[in-house]
Amino acid sequence: MTVEDDDDKAVPPGRQRKIIHVDMDAFYASVEQRDNPDLRGKPVAVGGSQERGVVAAASYEARKFGVRSAMPSVTAKRQCPDLIFVKPRVEVYKAVSQQVRDIFAEHTPIIEPLSLDEAYLDVTENLQGISLARDVALAIRSKIKEVTGLNASAGISYNKFLAKLASDHRKPNGQYVITPEMGPTFVETLPVNKFHGIGPATTAKMNGLGLRTGLDMRNHSLDFMQANFGKAGAYYYWISRGVDKREVRADRIRKSVGAENTFSADLTDFDAMVVELQPLIDKVWQHCEDKGARGRTVTLKIKFNDFAIITRSKSIPVAVSSRSELERLSVGLLQSEIPIPKPVRLLGVSLSALHGEFRAESQLGLPI
Ligand SMILES: [Mg+2]
Repeated sequence: MTVEDDDDKAVPPGRQRKIIHVDMDAFYASVEQRDNPDLRGKPVAVGGSQERGVVAAASYEARKFGVRSAMPSVTAKRQCPDLIFVKPRVEVYKAVSQQVRDIFAEHTPIIEPLSLDEAYLDVTENLQGISLARDVALAIRSKIKEVTGLNASAGISYNKFLAKLASDHRKPNGQYVITPEMGPTFVETLPVNKFHGIGPATTAKMNGLGLRTGLDMRNHSLDFMQANFGKAGAYYYWISRGVDKREVRADRIRKSVGAENTFSADLTDFDAMVVELQPLIDKVWQHCEDKGARGRTVTLKIKFNDFAIITRSKSIPVAVSSRSELERLSVGLLQSEIPIPKPVRLLGVSLSALHGEFRAESQLGLPI
Protein backbone atom coordinates (compact mmCIF):
# COMPACT_ATOMS: atom_id res chain seq x y z
CA MET A 1 0.00 0.00 0.00
CA THR A 2 0.99 3.61 -0.24
CA VAL A 3 0.70 6.00 2.62
CA GLU A 4 0.48 9.66 1.84
CA ASP A 5 2.51 11.40 4.44
CA ASP A 6 2.97 14.99 3.36
CA ASP A 7 0.78 16.33 6.09
CA ASP A 8 1.78 15.14 9.52
CA LYS A 9 0.58 18.24 11.21
CA ALA A 10 -2.50 17.82 13.37
CA VAL A 11 -5.72 19.31 12.09
CA PRO A 12 -6.25 22.31 14.34
CA PRO A 13 -9.43 22.45 16.38
CA GLY A 14 -12.26 24.07 14.44
CA ARG A 15 -10.97 22.68 11.19
CA GLN A 16 -12.66 19.34 11.51
CA ARG A 17 -13.39 18.20 8.01
CA LYS A 18 -16.44 16.72 6.37
CA ILE A 19 -15.56 14.01 3.92
CA ILE A 20 -17.86 11.99 1.69
CA HIS A 21 -16.85 8.80 -0.05
CA VAL A 22 -19.20 8.15 -2.95
CA ASP A 23 -19.22 4.70 -4.48
CA MET A 24 -21.44 3.66 -7.38
CA ASP A 25 -23.18 0.33 -6.76
CA ALA A 26 -21.91 -2.57 -8.94
CA PHE A 27 -21.02 0.15 -11.42
CA TYR A 28 -20.18 -1.55 -14.73
CA ALA A 29 -22.80 -4.24 -14.24
CA SER A 30 -25.44 -1.65 -13.33
CA VAL A 31 -24.68 0.36 -16.46
CA GLU A 32 -25.14 -2.80 -18.53
CA GLN A 33 -28.43 -3.60 -16.82
CA ARG A 34 -29.58 -0.04 -17.32
CA ASP A 35 -28.86 -0.13 -21.04
CA ASN A 36 -30.13 -3.64 -21.71
CA PRO A 37 -33.46 -4.49 -20.07
CA ASP A 38 -32.88 -8.20 -20.82
CA LEU A 39 -30.12 -8.18 -18.20
CA ARG A 40 -32.16 -6.67 -15.39
CA GLY A 41 -32.74 -8.88 -12.38
CA LYS A 42 -30.24 -11.40 -13.70
CA PRO A 43 -26.75 -12.47 -12.65
CA VAL A 44 -24.43 -10.47 -14.87
CA ALA A 45 -20.65 -10.39 -15.01
CA VAL A 46 -18.81 -7.76 -16.99
CA GLY A 47 -15.65 -9.28 -18.39
CA GLY A 48 -14.40 -12.08 -20.59
CA SER A 49 -16.03 -15.51 -20.41
CA GLN A 50 -13.12 -17.27 -22.14
CA GLU A 51 -10.60 -19.59 -20.55
CA ARG A 52 -8.39 -16.92 -19.02
CA GLY A 53 -11.06 -14.27 -18.55
CA VAL A 54 -11.60 -12.43 -15.30
CA VAL A 55 -14.74 -10.87 -13.86
CA ALA A 56 -14.36 -7.07 -13.88
CA ALA A 57 -17.66 -6.43 -12.13
CA ALA A 58 -20.64 -8.48 -10.97
CA SER A 59 -24.28 -7.54 -10.57
CA TYR A 60 -25.86 -7.99 -7.14
CA GLU A 61 -27.77 -11.00 -8.49
CA ALA A 62 -24.42 -12.60 -9.37
CA ARG A 63 -22.87 -11.66 -6.04
CA LYS A 64 -25.49 -13.79 -4.28
CA PHE A 65 -23.69 -16.76 -5.83
CA GLY A 66 -20.35 -15.54 -4.57
CA VAL A 67 -19.26 -14.05 -7.88
CA ARG A 68 -16.77 -11.26 -7.21
CA SER A 69 -14.65 -8.92 -9.27
CA ALA A 70 -11.16 -10.22 -10.06
CA MET A 71 -12.49 -13.80 -9.89
CA PRO A 72 -11.49 -16.01 -12.84
CA SER A 73 -14.45 -16.33 -15.19
CA VAL A 74 -14.35 -20.14 -15.07
CA THR A 75 -14.73 -20.08 -11.30
CA ALA A 76 -17.55 -17.57 -11.57
CA LYS A 77 -19.38 -19.72 -14.11
CA ARG A 78 -18.99 -22.75 -11.88
CA GLN A 79 -20.47 -20.90 -8.90
CA CYS A 80 -23.26 -19.41 -10.93
CA PRO A 81 -24.12 -21.53 -14.00
CA ASP A 82 -26.68 -18.99 -15.29
CA LEU A 83 -24.15 -16.17 -15.19
CA ILE A 84 -24.40 -13.89 -18.25
CA PHE A 85 -21.08 -12.45 -19.43
CA VAL A 86 -21.11 -9.01 -21.01
CA LYS A 87 -18.21 -7.33 -22.76
CA PRO A 88 -17.03 -4.18 -21.03
CA ARG A 89 -17.88 -0.87 -22.73
CA VAL A 90 -15.28 1.34 -21.15
CA GLU A 91 -16.19 4.44 -23.16
CA VAL A 92 -19.73 4.31 -21.79
CA TYR A 93 -18.47 3.89 -18.21
CA LYS A 94 -16.16 6.84 -18.67
CA ALA A 95 -18.98 9.02 -19.96
CA VAL A 96 -21.19 8.12 -16.99
CA SER A 97 -18.26 8.72 -14.64
CA GLN A 98 -17.88 12.22 -16.07
CA GLN A 99 -21.59 12.91 -15.50
CA VAL A 100 -21.16 11.85 -11.89
CA ARG A 101 -18.07 14.03 -11.43
CA ASP A 102 -19.94 17.00 -12.83
CA ILE A 103 -22.53 16.44 -10.12
CA PHE A 104 -19.79 16.35 -7.46
CA ALA A 105 -18.42 19.62 -8.86
CA GLU A 106 -21.76 21.31 -8.15
CA HIS A 107 -20.91 20.82 -4.49
CA THR A 108 -17.15 21.05 -4.13
CA PRO A 109 -14.00 21.57 -6.18
CA ILE A 110 -12.12 19.21 -3.84
CA ILE A 111 -12.74 15.88 -5.56
CA GLU A 112 -10.34 12.94 -5.47
CA PRO A 113 -11.41 10.17 -7.83
CA LEU A 114 -10.16 6.71 -6.86
CA SER A 115 -11.51 5.03 -9.97
CA LEU A 116 -14.32 5.60 -12.46
CA ASP A 117 -16.92 4.83 -9.81
CA GLU A 118 -15.48 6.07 -6.54
CA ALA A 119 -14.33 9.39 -5.19
CA TYR A 120 -13.62 11.27 -2.01
CA LEU A 121 -15.13 14.72 -1.67
CA ASP A 122 -14.21 17.32 0.90
CA VAL A 123 -17.43 19.19 1.57
CA THR A 124 -16.32 21.05 4.70
CA GLU A 125 -17.04 24.25 2.83
CA ASN A 126 -19.36 23.20 0.05
CA LEU A 127 -20.50 25.37 -2.81
CA GLN A 128 -24.20 25.18 -2.00
CA GLY A 129 -23.72 26.02 1.64
CA ILE A 130 -25.42 22.85 2.88
CA SER A 131 -24.53 22.57 6.55
CA LEU A 132 -24.80 18.80 7.01
CA ALA A 133 -22.55 16.59 4.93
CA ARG A 134 -25.18 13.86 5.09
CA ASP A 135 -27.53 16.22 3.25
CA VAL A 136 -24.87 16.91 0.63
CA ALA A 137 -24.57 13.14 0.16
CA LEU A 138 -28.34 12.78 -0.18
CA ALA A 139 -28.44 15.58 -2.75
CA ILE A 140 -25.59 14.04 -4.73
CA ARG A 141 -27.09 10.55 -4.70
CA SER A 142 -30.50 11.71 -5.80
CA LYS A 143 -29.01 13.82 -8.60
CA ILE A 144 -26.91 10.85 -9.74
CA LYS A 145 -30.06 8.75 -9.87
CA GLU A 146 -31.92 11.46 -11.76
CA VAL A 147 -29.15 12.05 -14.32
CA THR A 148 -27.75 8.55 -14.81
CA GLY A 149 -30.51 6.25 -13.56
CA LEU A 150 -27.94 4.53 -11.34
CA ASN A 151 -27.59 4.03 -7.60
CA ALA A 152 -24.71 5.26 -5.54
CA SER A 153 -23.87 4.70 -1.89
CA ALA A 154 -22.09 7.18 0.33
CA GLY A 155 -20.07 7.19 3.51
CA ILE A 156 -19.86 10.38 5.49
CA SER A 157 -17.28 11.07 8.14
CA TYR A 158 -14.53 13.35 9.38
CA ASN A 159 -11.74 11.58 7.52
CA LYS A 160 -11.11 9.54 4.39
CA PHE A 161 -10.52 6.24 6.11
CA LEU A 162 -13.83 6.27 7.97
CA ALA A 163 -15.77 7.73 5.04
CA LYS A 164 -14.68 4.81 2.89
CA LEU A 165 -15.61 2.30 5.57
CA ALA A 166 -18.96 3.99 5.97
CA SER A 167 -19.89 3.83 2.29
CA ASP A 168 -19.89 0.02 2.47
CA HIS A 169 -22.09 -0.02 5.52
CA ARG A 170 -25.48 0.56 3.88
CA LYS A 171 -24.72 -0.63 0.38
CA PRO A 172 -26.48 -0.80 -2.03
CA ASN A 173 -28.24 2.53 -2.43
CA GLY A 174 -27.64 3.72 1.11
CA GLN A 175 -25.52 6.03 3.14
CA TYR A 176 -24.03 6.00 6.60
CA VAL A 177 -22.51 8.60 8.88
CA ILE A 178 -19.62 7.97 11.27
CA THR A 179 -19.38 10.88 13.68
CA PRO A 180 -16.23 11.80 15.61
CA GLU A 181 -17.83 10.23 18.69
CA MET A 182 -18.41 6.95 16.86
CA GLY A 183 -15.09 6.73 15.02
CA PRO A 184 -12.82 4.98 17.53
CA THR A 185 -15.52 2.49 18.57
CA PHE A 186 -16.37 1.74 14.97
CA VAL A 187 -12.79 0.71 14.31
CA GLU A 188 -12.48 -1.38 17.51
CA THR A 189 -14.37 -4.43 16.31
CA LEU A 190 -13.20 -4.22 12.73
CA PRO A 191 -11.11 -7.22 11.60
CA VAL A 192 -7.74 -6.03 10.32
CA ASN A 193 -8.37 -7.41 6.82
CA LYS A 194 -11.32 -5.02 6.52
CA PHE A 195 -9.05 -2.02 6.92
CA HIS A 196 -8.64 -0.29 3.60
CA GLY A 197 -5.05 -0.78 2.49
CA ILE A 198 -4.39 -3.94 4.52
CA GLY A 199 -4.05 -6.82 2.10
CA PRO A 200 -3.67 -10.57 2.67
CA ALA A 201 0.10 -10.44 3.38
CA THR A 202 -0.19 -7.73 6.04
CA THR A 203 -3.25 -9.44 7.48
CA ALA A 204 -1.26 -12.66 7.90
CA LYS A 205 1.59 -10.79 9.53
CA MET A 206 -0.77 -8.95 11.86
CA ASN A 207 -2.57 -12.13 12.83
CA GLY A 208 0.80 -13.71 13.54
CA LEU A 209 1.48 -10.88 15.99
CA GLY A 210 -1.91 -11.39 17.62
CA LEU A 211 -3.48 -8.40 15.91
CA ARG A 212 -6.94 -9.39 14.73
CA THR A 213 -9.02 -6.26 15.22
CA GLY A 214 -8.69 -2.52 15.42
CA LEU A 215 -8.73 -2.82 19.20
CA ASP A 216 -5.74 -5.20 19.11
CA MET A 217 -3.87 -2.63 17.04
CA ARG A 218 -4.79 0.13 19.44
CA ASN A 219 -3.34 -1.82 22.33
CA HIS A 220 0.13 -1.45 20.84
CA SER A 221 2.49 1.47 20.89
CA LEU A 222 3.47 3.59 17.94
CA ASP A 223 7.00 2.18 18.28
CA PHE A 224 5.74 -1.38 18.10
CA MET A 225 3.65 -0.66 15.02
CA GLN A 226 6.49 1.14 13.27
CA ALA A 227 9.03 -1.52 14.19
CA ASN A 228 6.84 -4.18 12.61
CA PHE A 229 5.24 -2.35 9.71
CA GLY A 230 7.64 0.46 8.88
CA LYS A 231 6.14 3.67 7.64
CA ALA A 232 2.69 2.12 7.30
CA GLY A 233 2.83 1.28 11.00
CA ALA A 234 2.16 4.89 11.93
CA TYR A 235 -0.84 4.95 9.61
CA TYR A 236 -2.22 1.79 11.23
CA TYR A 237 -1.55 3.20 14.68
CA TRP A 238 -3.62 6.29 13.92
CA ILE A 239 -6.44 4.70 11.95
CA SER A 240 -6.97 2.20 14.77
CA ARG A 241 -7.82 5.31 16.80
CA GLY A 242 -10.11 6.65 14.10
CA VAL A 243 -7.54 9.27 13.11
CA ASP A 244 -6.54 9.82 9.48
CA LYS A 245 -4.97 13.11 8.46
CA ARG A 246 -4.72 12.43 4.74
CA GLU A 247 -6.27 15.19 2.72
CA VAL A 248 -8.70 14.84 -0.13
CA ARG A 249 -6.52 15.61 -3.13
CA ALA A 250 -8.25 17.28 -5.98
CA ASP A 251 -6.67 16.12 -9.23
CA ARG A 252 -7.59 19.36 -10.85
CA ILE A 253 -9.91 22.21 -10.26
CA ARG A 254 -12.46 22.30 -12.97
CA LYS A 255 -13.45 25.53 -14.65
CA SER A 256 -10.83 27.51 -12.87
CA VAL A 257 -8.42 30.29 -13.65
CA GLY A 258 -5.05 30.14 -12.04
CA ALA A 259 -1.54 31.47 -12.08
CA GLU A 260 1.61 30.17 -10.47
CA ASN A 261 5.25 31.01 -10.29
CA THR A 262 8.42 29.13 -9.43
CA PHE A 263 10.93 31.31 -7.64
CA SER A 264 14.59 31.57 -8.49
CA ALA A 265 15.37 31.35 -4.78
CA ASP A 266 13.18 29.51 -2.26
CA LEU A 267 11.13 31.72 0.04
CA THR A 268 11.03 31.36 3.79
CA ASP A 269 9.65 34.72 4.81
CA PHE A 270 5.88 35.26 4.98
CA ASP A 271 6.02 38.89 3.84
CA ALA A 272 8.12 37.94 0.84
CA MET A 273 5.52 35.34 -0.07
CA VAL A 274 2.75 37.91 0.18
CA VAL A 275 4.72 40.11 -2.22
CA GLU A 276 5.14 37.23 -4.63
CA LEU A 277 1.41 36.50 -4.51
CA GLN A 278 0.60 39.95 -5.90
CA PRO A 279 1.42 39.37 -9.58
CA LEU A 280 -0.41 36.02 -9.41
CA ILE A 281 -3.50 37.68 -7.99
CA ASP A 282 -3.21 40.38 -10.67
CA LYS A 283 -3.06 37.77 -13.38
CA VAL A 284 -6.05 35.80 -12.09
CA TRP A 285 -8.11 38.92 -11.52
CA GLN A 286 -7.19 40.36 -14.92
CA HIS A 287 -8.36 37.15 -16.55
CA CYS A 288 -11.65 37.36 -14.62
CA GLU A 289 -12.15 40.93 -15.80
CA ASP A 290 -11.29 40.09 -19.38
CA LYS A 291 -13.48 37.02 -19.63
CA GLY A 292 -16.24 38.07 -17.27
CA ALA A 293 -15.45 34.96 -15.24
CA ARG A 294 -16.37 34.86 -11.57
CA GLY A 295 -15.66 32.27 -8.95
CA ARG A 296 -16.18 31.76 -5.28
CA THR A 297 -13.53 29.20 -4.43
CA VAL A 298 -10.00 30.45 -4.01
CA THR A 299 -7.24 27.85 -3.96
CA LEU A 300 -3.69 28.42 -2.86
CA LYS A 301 -1.02 26.00 -4.00
CA ILE A 302 2.31 25.72 -2.25
CA LYS A 303 5.21 23.65 -3.51
CA PHE A 304 8.04 23.21 -1.05
CA ASN A 305 11.73 22.87 -1.79
CA ASP A 306 11.38 19.08 -1.46
CA PHE A 307 8.70 19.24 -4.19
CA ALA A 308 5.88 18.28 -1.81
CA ILE A 309 2.73 20.16 -2.80
CA ILE A 310 -0.20 21.24 -0.68
CA THR A 311 -3.33 23.05 -1.74
CA ARG A 312 -5.70 24.97 0.48
CA SER A 313 -9.12 26.21 -0.58
CA LYS A 314 -11.64 28.65 0.73
CA SER A 315 -15.16 29.01 -0.61
CA ILE A 316 -17.32 32.00 0.06
CA PRO A 317 -21.09 32.29 -0.40
CA VAL A 318 -21.02 34.61 -3.39
CA ALA A 319 -18.49 35.14 -6.17
CA VAL A 320 -15.33 37.03 -5.35
CA SER A 321 -16.17 40.57 -6.38
CA SER A 322 -12.90 42.47 -6.38
CA ARG A 323 -9.18 42.10 -6.63
CA SER A 324 -8.80 43.13 -3.01
CA GLU A 325 -11.17 40.39 -1.92
CA LEU A 326 -9.21 37.84 -3.92
CA GLU A 327 -6.06 39.12 -2.26
CA ARG A 328 -7.56 38.97 1.21
CA LEU A 329 -8.67 35.35 0.69
CA SER A 330 -5.40 34.23 -0.87
CA VAL A 331 -3.27 35.82 1.82
CA GLY A 332 -5.63 34.42 4.45
CA LEU A 333 -5.01 30.91 3.14
CA LEU A 334 -1.27 31.47 3.29
CA GLN A 335 -1.56 32.93 6.77
CA SER A 336 -3.31 29.84 8.10
CA GLU A 337 -0.29 27.77 7.06
CA ILE A 338 2.00 29.69 9.38
CA PRO A 339 4.44 28.42 10.57
CA ILE A 340 5.31 27.45 7.04
CA PRO A 341 7.20 24.20 7.55
CA LYS A 342 9.71 24.25 4.69
CA PRO A 343 11.17 26.72 2.21
CA VAL A 344 8.72 27.47 -0.59
CA ARG A 345 9.63 26.94 -4.20
CA LEU A 346 6.36 27.77 -5.92
CA LEU A 347 3.13 29.55 -5.14
CA GLY A 348 -0.08 29.39 -7.13
CA VAL A 349 -3.46 31.06 -6.84
CA SER A 350 -6.59 29.94 -8.61
CA LEU A 351 -10.22 30.80 -8.59
CA SER A 352 -12.79 28.23 -9.61
CA ALA A 353 -15.77 29.57 -11.49
CA LEU A 354 -19.43 29.50 -10.67
CA HIS A 355 -21.28 26.24 -10.91
CA GLY A 356 -24.81 27.68 -10.96
CA GLU A 357 -26.85 29.58 -8.43
CA PHE A 358 -25.68 29.74 -4.90
CA ARG A 359 -27.71 30.00 -1.77
CA ALA A 360 -26.01 32.22 0.71
CA GLU A 361 -26.36 30.32 3.96
CA SER A 362 -24.16 29.64 6.88
CA GLN A 363 -21.96 26.75 5.87
CA LEU A 364 -19.57 26.22 8.70
CA GLY A 365 -21.68 24.33 11.19
CA LEU A 366 -19.58 21.52 12.55
CA PRO A 367 -22.12 18.68 12.76
CA ILE A 368 -21.67 16.13 10.00
MG1 LIG B 1 -18.44 0.73 -6.65
